[in-house]
Amino acid sequence: MSEYDRCVKCGGTVTADDIGLFRKLVDRTADGGFMCIDCMAEKFGCRREKLEEKVREYRKNGCLMFP
Ligand SMILES: [Zn+2]
Repeated sequence: MSEYDRCVKCGGTVTADDIGLFRKLVDRTADGGFMCIDCMAEKFGCRREKLEEKVREYRKNGCLMFP
């Protein structure tokens, strides 16, 4: 596991979905400095369920960032 797989805010594990979401919502070309879904939810002031829903939506739409 590389350091890119750690959340910059809480040090927690960042999943492939989290990275995809981060690129979608924060920085499309990000190559590090990712955040876990919990910290992204906090950043956007929403519930993590809302973000998980977004991941499902992107995947359903065939987004390449969510294989
Ligand atoms: Zn975090």
